[in-house]
Amino acid sequence: MRFVEIRQRSVPISRYADPSLPSGGLTTSIVALVTDVRRDGAPVVGYGFSSIGRFAQGGLIRDRFAPRLLALRDRDLATRDGTTVDPFRVWAGLMAGEKPGGHGERCVAVGTLDMAVWDAAAKIAELPLYRFLAEMTGEAAVDAPVPVYAGGGYYFPEDDEGHLREEIAQHLDRGFTHVKIKIGGQPLGEDLARVEAALDLLPDGGRLAVDALNAYGREAALKTARHLSGYGLRWFEDVCDPLDYETHAEIARLYSPPIAAGEALFSLADARNLVRYAGLRPGHDVLVFDPVHCYGLPEYLRILKLVQAAGWSRRELQPHGGHLFSLHVAAALGLGGCEANPHNFQPFGGFADNAKVENGRVRPPAAPGIGFETRGALAGLFHDLATSGVST
Ligand code: MG
Repeated sequence: MRFVEIRQRSVPISRYADPSLPSGGLTTSIVALVTDVRRDGAPVVGYGFSSIGRFAQGGLIRDRFAPRLLALRDRDLATRDGTTVDPFRVWAGLMAGEKPGGHGERCVAVGTLDMAVWDAAAKIAELPLYRFLAEMTGEAAVDAPVPVYAGGGYYFPEDDEGHLREEIAQHLDRGFTHVKIKIGGQPLGEDLARVEAALDLLPDGGRLAVDALNAYGREAALKTARHLSGYGLRWFEDVCDPLDYETHAEIARLYSPPIAAGEALFSLADARNLVRYAGLRPGHDVLVFDPVHCYGLPEYLRILKLVQAAGWSRRELQPHGGHLFSLHVAAALGLGGCEANPHNFQPFGGFADNAKVENGRVRPPAAPGIGFETRGALAGLFHDLATSGVST
């Protein structure tokens, strides 16, 4: 068993469903990992992408990590019984020679390839990823629908409040019960008006989370926390610089409702510092690490073990991303839920085309692997990559 080819491409992604609005300039890498295993007369191909919110990782994938994958052979990459790829073994091969520290964004490049490895492994095992992951980790597969909340709520360049209201109404029509909107990009008074407009459409503050995109310095964070306190929001996310543990701790002391952190921390070492020094409250606050950005699933599982040992429950983890991969992870590991991006970051955001969100919950697709093939636009993009993309 081996990987015979890796194709990759950088693609633009937009914060907005409307293509006429400025996208924000984000990109992501898409990868196709071709194996020498055949199913139904064709090679099994694993697909992955760099999740959402960081940039494409083409250089690191091409020059550093893809060659290591292509050099792996049978015993380096197969499960003990040889029936499929063992993503944990592959991960060790990906990280061969890497030193501790200096995480930078190599973790995103590794996580991108790791996603494609899990997709290929689950396809070879002919299982949906959440079942395969449960099997590989010895978890009991959870077959219940996963609680999801609709992310988005970015600032619109014109008629922000009108568009925000429209977006939230669409989420509620689609079956979502909880939403998250952005703050931190304009004067506080205008952000509070945004929060109140959103609350106007929801039964209570417990249905609304706000995400400040790590925008606040200490003073602004404290001031905003004081003003938000009375709304009883579901959580206040990405309050300040992700490495400013002292300000996190100050916020946690004065702000009673939950805060959420971890999205912009990309390693076990950073997660350890967060739970040690940021004053977060197990049993109350929320951890939103992105399983792709933090070196992929093997590292995410180590983070999960670490935070559980520090007193956190799995119900307090809500992986970032808003796409199928995070949904499988939440389903397999029995996490509190995950984000959904039904409007933003297309064609990656959201779940299967025929998925039904019912009372804020949704099931992962039953297709083998991650099930990108259940999303028409995404299936087309990946198929095009596999057949005509640039080989690394
Ligand atoms: Mg966030």
